[in-house]
Amino acid sequence: MPVGAQKAIIDALQECLFCRIVRREIPAQIVHEDEQALVFKDITPQAPTHLLVIPKKHLGSLSASTDGDALLLGHLQRVACWIAESVKLSSFRLVTNNGKGAGQSVDHLHYHLLAGRPMSWPPG
Ligand code: 5GP
Ligand code: ZN
Repeated sequence: MPVGAQKAIIDALQECLFCRIVRREIPAQIVHEDEQALVFKDITPQAPTHLLVIPKKHLGSLSASTDGDALLLGHLQRVACWIAESVKLSSFRLVTNNGKGAGQSVDHLHYHLLAGRPMSWPPG
């Protein structure tokens, strides 16, 4: 990879908001951490429970993942289940916004874990 392209990736990682939360450069209310994943409270909760489940590894969105990330993606979903079980959520919604048109505002893959109020379908 050309040096310029490497620098662009390093710059992106340094600026990425959620990478900065992983590195503890920005505070967050962390509720779970393991080798691959971090879970923290959303700063603008849209439900009584609103957590963000993220990979520590930077992936810009779900569609930036590759087949090699399959285990990681599965792990993130299992983490969401463990948390839901641990706080006895009878139902919850796990959703990722992929791309600006779908409402993605932070370019680091994250699953919203939402619970604690009635939820309509389809989402807006
Ligand atoms: P998106 O819009 O990309 O699907 O979701 C991004 C989420 O990140 C939003 O729900 C937003 O409230 C949350 N968020 C943005 N900045 C911060 C922050 O600095 N800390 C935390 N904990 N959440 C954030
Ligand atoms: Zn990142």
